Amino acid sequence: MNKHEADRNLGLILTEFRNYQQGILPTGPGARGLIEFFADIDQNPAIEPAAPKIQRNDRDILNLLSKRSEVLHLGPANYCWFTDPTRALCLKLAGTPTATKPLIGMCDSARCPQATHHPIHRDVWAEHAQRTKTFLGQLGKTRTTERERLTSDHTRPQRIVTAIDTAARGASDQS
Ligand code: SF4
Repeated sequence: MNKHEADRNLGLILTEFRNYQQGILPTGPGARGLIEFFADIDQNPAIEPAAPKIQRNDRDILNLLSKRSEVLHLGPANYCWFTDPTRALCLKLAGTPTATKPLIGMCDSARCPQATHHPIHRDVWAEHAQRTKTFLGQLGKTRTTERERLTSDHTRPQRIVTAIDTAARGASDQS
């Protein structure tokens, strides 16, 4: 990973950590692990603020986030936290379980335990849901098999959009 990518990843993980602190949680199969990781950092006494209401120093937090940021890969519609190749669904599907990089082109982020979805990915999923809805509307009544496949293609992105919205709404409910 070059310096540009390392800096970019650090910026992205810091953004998501700040989101977490505001109650905007990640979603997706890997969300739980990422939330636990953020919670550990948030409660780390080493970066306890000197006084209430003083935001913890970005540099201290970046130090704690940096290792995790090194395993971050960007999918078009998700973040991939490539911590363990044996858990990578894309590698399992490709039959290359010992590869050292994820196969982003084969990513199935709705099912991979290393994937998370964030507000930044919402538009991609919403567009996908809208597109499949339009196709469904254009299908003739007799095209049963295609309808079933498209319905599932529509349900999945719609579910992801709803999860992202629900996670963001949790934050606005608290404010
Ligand atoms: S399936 Fe996607 S999230 Fe999972 S390891 Fe592969 S690229 Fe990463």
